[in-house]
Amino acid sequence: MNKTVLVTGGLGFIGSHTVLDLLANDYEVIIIDNLVNSHIEVLDHIATISGKKPLFFEADVRNEEVLNKIFKEYHIDAIIHFAGLKAVGESVKKPTLYYDVNINTTLALLKMMKKYNCHNIIFSSSATVYGESRELPFTENMNVGVGIKNPYGETKYINELLLKDFATSEDDMHVILLRYFNPIGAHKSGLLGEDPKDIPNNLMPYVLKVAVGELDHLTVFGDDYDTPDGTCIRDYIHVLDLAHGHVLALSKILGMKDKCEIYNLGTGKGSSVLEIVHAFNNVNHIKLPYVIGPRREGDAAMSFASIEKARKELGFEPIYTIEDACLDAFNFIKKHVGKE
Ligand code: NAD
Ligand code: UDP
Repeated sequence: MNKTVLVTGGLGFIGSHTVLDLLANDYEVIIIDNLVNSHIEVLDHIATISGKKPLFFEADVRNEEVLNKIFKEYHIDAIIHFAGLKAVGESVKKPTLYYDVNINTTLALLKMMKKYNCHNIIFSSSATVYGESRELPFTENMNVGVGIKNPYGETKYINELLLKDFATSEDDMHVILLRYFNPIGAHKSGLLGEDPKDIPNNLMPYVLKVAVGELDHLTVFGDDYDTPDGTCIRDYIHVLDLAHGHVLALSKILGMKDKCEIYNLGTGKGSSVLEIVHAFNNVNHIKLPYVIGPRREGDAAMSFASIEKARKELGFEPIYTIEDACLDAFNFIKKHVGKE
């Protein structure tokens, strides 16, 4: 029988791409999402692309009444927990909201796992937990949690501690923590991608808004870093590669003996802000207007992953380039602009 996966936040940017990959691999998928940062149309797009319509519950993951209903009715083999709030700037202004949503969603799920004998959970963590660590590339066994700069990042770190302690204290409970680096790109169909409602913090959504003329120009935050072109370096991973990492992690967790494993999901390669701008210009035949501005507070000069552990233990191998991501993201935004 096909395994059933509960995907929280499954209509969001990474969740929706992961749902497609799960469906392509014959998993039964149940999505719970409260649409706080996504649109119901994504469900139709998933159906159009995959030919399958997953079960969908519009609800907050903290709503235990709904969770009880789902877990009572369906046998859930594993949970992939994407649901949460992710805007770094907003988390500084509304820390209690961020702690509430990002921690209590997980707590509610752990309660259900115990109650209904679900043994596996995969969690969306972030490279942000490496904090002020400057030894590169980041490896999973490094110390984390020191020098995290904002409540969003703290909630990721606290979730990691919580999930590790849960797995340690319970018999036969398994946790995989996936530390994402910088997801960019979109689905090749142009139907799924990322289009934040507010002025974006992140580089690629900002670039896209400039590319379609919704914003004037990009400001490059500093060109005086100790990097080859002076701009910051990050490990940008195509969302399709990242999504596939979840399918591999799921296959691992369903037969896993260990209680908790951690994997970086990046490409292992860094690109500078200017390299992204140039790649975007080249593949899309445009010229993004940009100015060099001051450094953004809290930015590290460089962040990139070691993906050796994911390679070895999950068979993870990213296949897309930053050029693919720039092309796909622009294709998505051109189709999407003005539709919301
Ligand atoms: P997203 O905002 O596009 O997706 C999150 C989804 O969860 C949205 O559809 C939203 O409506 C839903 N949601 C939020 N709170 C909910 C709640 N209480 N109950 C039910 N649904 C809820 O974000 P994303 O980029 O797809 O990120 C997914 C996960 O990965 C998040 O946990 C995020 O923190 C983490 N992550 C993202 C990045 C990134 O750069 N995108 C990097 C590292 C980690
Ligand atoms: N960045 C930039 N201009 C922007 C947004 C981001 O120059 O408008 C830079 C930022 O300084 C960082 C890189 O792009 O070096 C990636 O930023 P993002 O916020 O996307 O990811 P993070 O820094 O959280 O890894």
